[in-house]
Amino acid sequence: MSANGFVLGIDLGTTNTAAVAYGPESPGPVSILHGRDQPVMPSVVSMKNARLPIVGWLAKDMLLTDPLTTIYGWKRFLGRSPDSEFVARYRARFPFRIQGDDSGRLGAVVGNQVVPFVDIAAMVLDQVRLQTSAMLSRSVRDTVIAVPAHFNHAQRSAVIEAAARAGLNVMSLINEPTAAALAFGLDQKLQSRLLVFDLGGGTFDATILELTENVFDVKATRGEGFLGGIDFDRAIMNRLIEYCRQTHHIDPSEEPIVAQRLLNAAESAKRMLSAHECVDIRVPMIGMDRRGDSVDLEYRLDRRELEQLTAPLVERAIGTVEEMMRESGFERQHLQQVIISGGQSRMPLVLRRIEQALGQAPWTHLDADTCVALGAAVFARSHEHLDGAVLLDVLSVPIGAVLPGGQTQLVFPANTSLPAQRAIAFDGRTDDRGVSIGLFQGADIAAPDRQMLGILRVPSHMLPRGERFLIELDLSEGLHLRARFRSSTQTVPLVLEGAGAA
Ligand code: AMP
Repeated sequence: MSANGFVLGIDLGTTNTAAVAYGPESPGPVSILHGRDQPVMPSVVSMKNARLPIVGWLAKDMLLTDPLTTIYGWKRFLGRSPDSEFVARYRARFPFRIQGDDSGRLGAVVGNQVVPFVDIAAMVLDQVRLQTSAMLSRSVRDTVIAVPAHFNHAQRSAVIEAAARAGLNVMSLINEPTAAALAFGLDQKLQSRLLVFDLGGGTFDATILELTENVFDVKATRGEGFLGGIDFDRAIMNRLIEYCRQTHHIDPSEEPIVAQRLLNAAESAKRMLSAHECVDIRVPMIGMDRRGDSVDLEYRLDRRELEQLTAPLVERAIGTVEEMMRESGFERQHLQQVIISGGQSRMPLVLRRIEQALGQAPWTHLDADTCVALGAAVFARSHEHLDGAVLLDVLSVPIGAVLPGGQTQLVFPANTSLPAQRAIAFDGRTDDRGVSIGLFQGADIAAPDRQMLGILRVPSHMLPRGERFLIELDLSEGLHLRARFRSSTQTVPLVLEGAGAA
């Protein structure tokens, strides 16, 4: 039970953060973050003055003038290791430098120090806590935070660590599409099977849930960490850069500030084209021509060209949905409702392709900006009420083991219902040095960019000679992993040692 009966749901988005609070007696949910006529706060932190970070709308404005010290898009790097393939592949897309600090935590280089991304996340969450206190005139600590369904253990742990640093108590995490479904189910006392299509600023998730009264049973989920609105903006920006090169012989990609202005213009144009057929993009002073005169970019973008430029991105999302349906054995006639969440899902091409692929127009009435935070708040409140929502979740990223011989074994496949128990059996032909097993999480557990969860060691004195024994694993809804050694004579808990251990 929270101290004053107030709970908070937070959508810590790649682009924007939203928060919704419930009080003990208030008539309904209260949306907390407001700025510039929107119920959100940009997930951006300006570190221009490292001792006085600025968070939110003002920080977003500083992207234009101080791209090297204005940190955005950090959510994609949260909980990742500095030497992962992922970081090597994507760090060049950001104007600020990205590297590990002395303790191996990944962050942005500001001046001569590395600010870990988990600290940046903590600054954003601290701002949420402050604004909540200011708005409700009381401190609220108990929160449910939404994370992408495909987040692995290390990414989830990083969110919990950031929240703790910001003075928040995480009652639990919830997957973003599940939170959207909770918001949808709030006033729909119906039984149905839904697909949530969640294309946000930086990540994509598709999830199938079954909703019965107040039980939300996740049946399948699949996602991509690097597919979202920003990729659409970049596709438009690349077209603008190409046009500048051809027409004006200027390469704006060489100037980080000009490139950032083009990216902003691309984003506004993209949003406008969700409602209009055509938009005139104008970015003044992108460079000098050969005579030394200042050049303005003027470009007319219509919806057809936008769709040509971004169709491959939309197809990736649709392909992920189709793959998830195939693998989980669902067909489109099994779905009673398709709902969308995440701002980028509002694009007409996305809506059209969903309808073609799934045979029904998606439900578009949820408030894309706040529905995830609202769902998280509903879930937070249900911790306080016995008749609240019940969530049955599945594992989004598989977990596997590397056995003493070096071979890998899939232990918890994707979409395993949680909580779950599995056992790894050994035939007793072990040597005197004991047994060590590495546990990993990744879409492909044999791939180099898998995430290490830790190592289980069974010392030699525990090994029964020539006799079969088991290592039993329990995985909770919150992705906490517990391990036990079991032989015919004893059962002993094992500690998961090393990186990111639960
Ligand atoms: P979210 O992470 O859900 O806040 O998603 C934000 C992303 O959605 C950003 O990339 C926005 O540019 C994009 N977005 C927001 N509104 C629209 C819209 N009406 N049409 C297309 N994209 C949008």
